[in-house]
Amino acid sequence: MKNVNYYNKDFKLYISENEIKEIVKVLAEKINNDYTLIKKEEICIVSILNGSFVFVADLIRRLNFDHKVDFVKIKSYDGIESKGEVEHILELGESAKGKHILVIEDIVDTGLTIEAFIDKIKSQKPASLKVCALLSKPEVNNDIIPIDYLGKEIPPCFVIGYGLDISGMGRHLRDIYQLEA
Ligand code: 5GP
Repeated sequence: MKNVNYYNKDFKLYISENEIKEIVKVLAEKINNDYTLIKKEEICIVSILNGSFVFVADLIRRLNFDHKVDFVKIKSYDGIESKGEVEHILELGESAKGKHILVIEDIVDTGLTIEAFIDKIKSQKPASLKVCALLSKPEVNNDIIPIDYLGKEIPPCFVIGYGLDISGMGRHLRDIYQLEA
């Protein structure tokens, strides 16, 4: 599909399913290299819901070391704009103390969401804390968020698909689409 429309807004194809697959493969290779020597009981992959559920499902199936997966829910977006404040809706099932935590975020825009989560986890004293994001908008967040594993930098546009939504819609799309200006 070249174009999709939700809520009277037109979106055009931006990152194809094939490109996404390649990005995920490269990210998984890097993560595999860095984590293979860590004891399996101590690694926890934390997916930030809702947007990262598709990405994390593809990513973890390319990881060749055992690990736990947990989910947290943090909300900072309404419609197509960041609210400027975050809500912790779902917390980690187990404390991060002494664990190697790898946080998975779909997209880093202002960086507010990931920053709030990092602060919370740091206070639990994990053994290590790294961040993996599929996409980042460096022109918005000025690269202030340390992203250890980044899939792709994008300009400050609004995108949907591959887990990313517009008011709940569009998460099922296999490609990523950009809002037309
Ligand atoms: P931040 O707190 O970095 O501004 O925003 C992070 C969250 O906002 C992401 O996890 C994602 O849920 C949502 N978000 C940011 N940019 C976009 C975008 O371009 N499209 C969609 N669908 N969600 C976005």
